[in-house]
Amino acid sequence: MTPATLAPPRPAAQQPDWPDRTALLAAARELSDRPPLVRPEECDRLRGRLAEAATGHGFLLQGGDCAETFADTAPGPVRAKLALLAEAAALIEPSLGRPVTVLGRMAGQFAKPRSQPTELVDGVVLPVYRGDLVNGAEPTAGSRRPDPTRLLRAYDHAHDAVSVAREGAGREFFTSHEALILEYENALTRRDPATGDRYGLSGHYLWLGERTRQHHGAHVEFAATVANPVGVKLGPTADADDVLALAARIDPDRVPGRLSFITRMGSDRIRDLMPVLVEKARAEGIEAVWVCDPMHGNTYTTSGGLKTRRYDDVLDEVRGFFEVHRELGTRPGGLHLEFSADAVTECVGGPEALTEADLAERYTSTCDPRLNRVQTLALAGAVAGMFTG
Ligand code: PEP
Ligand code: MN
Repeated sequence: MTPATLAPPRPAAQQPDWPDRTALLAAARELSDRPPLVRPEECDRLRGRLAEAATGHGFLLQGGDCAETFADTAPGPVRAKLALLAEAAALIEPSLGRPVTVLGRMAGQFAKPRSQPTELVDGVVLPVYRGDLVNGAEPTAGSRRPDPTRLLRAYDHAHDAVSVAREGAGREFFTSHEALILEYENALTRRDPATGDRYGLSGHYLWLGERTRQHHGAHVEFAATVANPVGVKLGPTADADDVLALAARIDPDRVPGRLSFITRMGSDRIRDLMPVLVEKARAEGIEAVWVCDPMHGNTYTTSGGLKTRRYDDVLDEVRGFFEVHRELGTRPGGLHLEFSADAVTECVGGPEALTEADLAERYTSTCDPRLNRVQTLALAGAVAGMFTG
């Protein structure tokens, strides 16, 4: 009999339709026997850095692919992304006057929330690609079938990426990804023997996406029960009550650096929508880290059917974010980017003045359009100016 006190399972949004749940549970069980990918004390150290960013004594630079693929965890791509993060951070540091904390959107960023469960490819309805942790990007029925053994492959690839990052660490480095597939996250959640606290040890920092931040949903429940620093995306429909409810659920003890809000409003709305959220949080004494994601509110589809973003919109959203904080006397805590270290042509504009006609050249993202190396460094240079200007 089920004990009366056992809470019913909370609804989990954006989970794949796994064809074989027995295989899923077997994979999760095997994963729970693997060593964790990161250590609790590293998560605590990052939380300390975020606490500094919340009060203007630091800044977070978080970035990487929208959908990291297994192939992206090879040493070359990992080193290239780390080098670009370091280069961008070095552009910001002189005007900040403090070290920038670098947080890779990597070593586990393998699962994607999607707006539709299926898509039409050449007249055939296929399940959408949900990231390498779930299925294959190749548009065939076989590849798109959710495959639970991918949980184990994801672990192996995340492990590879973490190893490369650790071996080259001249700079303090942390990993992050969206905590989406709960079997993966739960299997890698462990109790720290030193403190008894539970940590999600699939990455140092875990965030909840715009589509999985329901107050009473399973993802918020997961975030509430781990001690890692966690982020929650806030899109244009987020209101002040969401901010209060999320803070109460996830960070009731108000641990400095524990909770960040990652706003992704769109360049045309950030200046209108963000002030009320920041003010409400401040009025209630919530010391969240405010991080700007200038990517996800600025996506559009070209007439040629490619998703893109304008560099100028991305830049303008960051400007709006800084303006709001300046007006309110609060602190811009960080920047969350989707970038590639390669010369991809996925976002239009920037120093190379890429046009929509250029997009087909080197569009390699399996999900959202990323800034290329030149656009990333230009943006970092502009952000440096926002601290002094
Ligand atoms: C993402 O970060 O790739 C993403 C899906 O963002 P959001 O949850 O803000 O839509
Ligand atoms: Mn994305």
